[in-house]
Amino acid sequence: MADQSPVTSGLPDAGGSSTPPRSAASARVIDMGSAGHVLALIRHFGSLTRADILRSTGLARSTVTSRIDALEGAGLITTKEAVAHGRGRPAERFSFNRAGGVFLIAHAGATGVQVAATDLEGTELWREHVNAAVTELSPTQWLSQVSRRFTAALQATGHNASAVRGIGLALPGPVDFEARTLVRPPIMSGWDSYPLADWFADAYEAPVVVENDVNAMALGEQRVRFRQDQALVMVKLATGVGAGIVIGGEIYRGADGAAGDIGHIQLADSGEDPPLCRCGNFGCIEAYAGGWALIRDLRAAGRQIDTVAEAVSLIHSGDQEAMRLSRRAGRILGVALSDVVSLLNPGRLVIGGELADAASHLFAGIREQIYARSLPLATRQLDIVPSTLGPSAGLSGLAAAIADQVFAPSRIDARLGDH
Ligand SMILES: [Zn+2]
Repeated sequence: MADQSPVTSGLPDAGGSSTPPRSAASARVIDMGSAGHVLALIRHFGSLTRADILRSTGLARSTVTSRIDALEGAGLITTKEAVAHGRGRPAERFSFNRAGGVFLIAHAGATGVQVAATDLEGTELWREHVNAAVTELSPTQWLSQVSRRFTAALQATGHNASAVRGIGLALPGPVDFEARTLVRPPIMSGWDSYPLADWFADAYEAPVVVENDVNAMALGEQRVRFRQDQALVMVKLATGVGAGIVIGGEIYRGADGAAGDIGHIQLADSGEDPPLCRCGNFGCIEAYAGGWALIRDLRAAGRQIDTVAEAVSLIHSGDQEAMRLSRRAGRILGVALSDVVSLLNPGRLVIGGELADAASHLFAGIREQIYARSLPLATRQLDIVPSTLGPSAGLSGLAAAIADQVFAPSRIDARLGDH
């Protein structure tokens, strides 16, 4: 506990949904000794004794007792008597009450949805994959399918609707995080500005977080595997291509929520007639390297396939055309990612998604272009790694995004009043 720097860097966002993202200035507004802050400390370290809290906060003993009583009374922490060492009373340890409710989560790709119930630390209690293509369903059709699975998740885990502390939805399109809507998603007609959060207002008294699918995966990778990383970029290669950026432990969204949407960057000088993209433009990265484009090219070459999984199988089976196309896809992705690396200087580039299962061919092209094109200083510490979390990346990331809101110190303090 000598080094306190991880405490502040690991704190959840101080703002609620109606406040702008935390900046250096707004971070100073946090009352560093409030009950909400004490909860943030306990969540960060897993469990703390009274002496730990006294040391970390500099509060008076009576104030710490009052904070602990308030948090315990609200069911936010649990107390356990530790084994005594030597003489003296055994120290009590205070832990975050991860079982004090559940989060309901739906993480959608283009062709399917992972639906899960997690505890309040994001540990999965129940998970199911649902075949529901957002590209073919209206928002109401998709939401009613997800709602039914949420009900099933609660039944399976033995919870009532009143136990739900937060709901998270991740979708493959640009998200207005504050409005909790999609903004003109290029592949999902009828979803623009649809009020997704309102759907759950009658059934649950819990905040709803709407997030871009790759942003959620990037946050999951950072929080679960690379907690110390200050700058991480996650690239999802599946039916489409997208990226999520996590800076200082939080998702970087840009001014309009479009940051990281690399799939529709147009490739200059490809040396051929640029192919038509799903978005209506020509020559987007995705129109060469997305799963749908690989399927298109493999079918044109006479391979009878319909899914990204089948394209990956062809690559693994050593099909010459499939291998050639995946190497080309890797090089084209590498061109776009070299600009990302020069601009953001990430320490970690995580590559995931269904198509990333064809890793060796894609990774070779990606690495080759990034190291050839990026600034040397920007790649000095760069680590390019495959995602190992699979579907759990997006679910963990959504759970973290919900927890950041629900357990933000300002929100806890508002709920508990003056303690
Ligand atoms: Zn496009």
